[in-house]
Amino acid sequence: MSESEGIDARPYRAVVTGAAGFIGSHLVEALLELGHEVVGIDAFTSSYPPALKRSNIAAASAHPCFDLLPADLNELDLVEVLRPDDVIFHLGGQPGVRASWGKDFVDYTRANIDATQRVLEAARARQAARIVFASSSSVYGDAPLPMREDGPLHPVSPYGVTKLTAELLGLVYWKAFGLPVVPLRFFSVYGPRQRPDMAFNRFIDAIAQGKPIVVFGDGSQRRDFTYVGDVVAALLAAAAHGRPGEPINVGGGSTVTLAQSIAIIERRIGRKALIEQNPAPPGDARDTQAATDRLHALGAMPRVRIEDGLAQQVAWQLRSMPGQVSRGVVAGAPPTQRARSGSAPRILLYSHDTYGLGHLRRNTAIAHGLVQRSPELEVTLLTGSPMAEQWPFPDGVSIVRLPPVVKVGAEEYQPVQARSMSAVRAERAGIIASTLLRVRPDVFLVDHAPLGMKGELGLALKMAREELPDTRVVLGLRDVLDEPDVVRATWSAQGVYQILETAYDQIIVYGSRELFDAASEYGIPDSVARRVQFSGYLAKDRGLEQSIDGRETWAQARRAGDRRVLVMGGGGGDAAPMLLAAIQAWDSLRYLLHGEAVIVVGPLMAPADRAEVERMGSQVAGVQVIRSSTTMLSLVAAADLIVSMGGYNSVVEAVAARKPLVICPRTAPRREQLMRAEIMARLGLAQVARLDGDGDVAGRIADAMVAALKAGPPPAHAWRSIDLRGTERVTDLLLEMTAPVSVQVAA
Ligand code: NAD
Repeated sequence: MSESEGIDARPYRAVVTGAAGFIGSHLVEALLELGHEVVGIDAFTSSYPPALKRSNIAAASAHPCFDLLPADLNELDLVEVLRPDDVIFHLGGQPGVRASWGKDFVDYTRANIDATQRVLEAARARQAARIVFASSSSVYGDAPLPMREDGPLHPVSPYGVTKLTAELLGLVYWKAFGLPVVPLRFFSVYGPRQRPDMAFNRFIDAIAQGKPIVVFGDGSQRRDFTYVGDVVAALLAAAAHGRPGEPINVGGGSTVTLAQSIAIIERRIGRKALIEQNPAPPGDARDTQAATDRLHALGAMPRVRIEDGLAQQVAWQLRSMPGQVSRGVVAGAPPTQRARSGSAPRILLYSHDTYGLGHLRRNTAIAHGLVQRSPELEVTLLTGSPMAEQWPFPDGVSIVRLPPVVKVGAEEYQPVQARSMSAVRAERAGIIASTLLRVRPDVFLVDHAPLGMKGELGLALKMAREELPDTRVVLGLRDVLDEPDVVRATWSAQGVYQILETAYDQIIVYGSRELFDAASEYGIPDSVARRVQFSGYLAKDRGLEQSIDGRETWAQARRAGDRRVLVMGGGGGDAAPMLLAAIQAWDSLRYLLHGEAVIVVGPLMAPADRAEVERMGSQVAGVQVIRSSTTMLSLVAAADLIVSMGGYNSVVEAVAARKPLVICPRTAPRREQLMRAEIMARLGLAQVARLDGDGDVAGRIADAMVAALKAGPPPAHAWRSIDLRGTERVTDLLLEMTAPVSVQVAA
């Protein structure tokens, strides 16, 4: 691509490092808004609470054109992530002047220098169209004002030194290899989502809470403050037509003293600051002011005045401090108040988890969505899964474990520990009820079983009604449970209809009414049907995985035409026959299909079954058998074909990744998987290979694999016919239920 060619005129693939940070998250949203495809990379480092970063990027995460890789630039194989002609916005780094002195300097060299060198190397290897790099006004130190890009560079902090080094590295790659690097020098950025260590954020927080603020120096130091929206505009303009190798200042909007900016905040909040003065620490430049000729030539001069920009930041910050808002400190704004004043909203999720991993996986996805969206929420998850010890729960979620019980037949259960079933059931019922009373949640979400395992929820549901009038009790149902007549008979026999009527405020079906109307098929009476909502399918967020190392499970060397086939049997409890048949199918196709098949046995497979799958896998070329993976979504993302049982999560993950898919559904003891598989086949999203019935199962799977590969990924119209935004909608619904009661406070 030539330098003069505008690259914003057509959609491009943008790779944003530091995507979950303050500036990065705004940039991601702007790129998506403009119709670009975006890959975000962020290590969620602990420079400030990762929960805040998750919340920054939560809204963008739901966008279908956004992929978030939670990975460290110093570890990630970037060459695999990048594609030729990508536009890279390299914002990942360790910011902050004061903390760069002392022992933590290594964090700065790693994040700002080592990581930048890796980005440049990968960009060179993959021939990136452009790299826009976030440098800083700190490269100037105490330079004469206004600070000119071609003027002296004498950083006065270790942070400034790392930023200058990174800039110079970029310059070296431009000169040596023609890699088009455009460095932007940001001047004190502010606005919504500003980092909690930055001055305005600390000032607003303290003034709103009536606490003293610490001002370094006498407050007369001048800063060139730049609104984050203006910084994003400059980043986009630099990607379009910035001149490689030429740094550009991004500042010049509002040069004011610190004291003036504090006065603006005081006016917005309607409260005077209590000021404590401390001597200016080393590393802070006395004044900053950007020369703006280059920014002007780029057509990206700042537009937002400091009064308006600070109004945005104050409003955002007070919104995320419910306690403050209820005290009515925002002049002119109608404040609200939570029903229980001062407390964070609380959500309790329960799943009995006596068979498979489906319930736990769904609740984990919902819990993750909740803490991402709203980090101040208190989310507690009750689970009875035998896998709970090893399960990768999302950060910020409290876990309460129930003694595990496994299902051994229709309505027959057995404790995992050597204890009587009645003792374990009583203990579980007690833990659930006492957790409910301790947490006193705004919302209690029950997965799938309205009465819990063998009625264990009875006590808790009764207490919710008697003791917790403010708690909304919600039932989350899978898209499909079983054949309608079977469900109707079971529900009648167990008294479920009555419980739905009396104990549940709301029912959410994790599917689409157009595809299967669970409310009418299962005979939910009209009085309850009014409380039923369909959320769409719950597709998981890649942020649930710690890294994208899953890609490394696949053999690295790949010849043209090689295929990656992923075979998954969900939790694995009854998956052995399907996996064995799939290995046979792969073997029978060896003259047609080359590459690699990864077979995931699932953590719940019996050891003897697992040994058999491993034995058979070892005899067939190109087969790799693994027990489980903590990076399933990444494995799915890198596969060319997926062969799976028909469980909710596996199917939704494969469909969400828009992969050719063969579903081999279980048909007993329930028809649920078969019904789901048939729905997906009807939509053109999957081939079905039945495991039951006469004849050659492996042959059926092989035929379906060939058909699925031939058909390729589902066409856009078919893929769009399924609603995969369930996690977002369920999160919205639950958050709405915790929403504050609006109370007008006299201004
Ligand atoms: P931020 O801390 O909010 O964002 C940086 C993000 O980078 C964080 O989310 C962090 O987790 C991520 N990160 C750090 N090391 C990483 C690694 N090795 N791999 C992947 N991700 C990593 O900071 P910000 O204020 O949004 O700043 C963004 C960039 O702009 C930084 O490079 C900063 O130095 C630069 N900058 C910011 C300002 C400002 O006023 N905010 C001024 C000048 C320059």
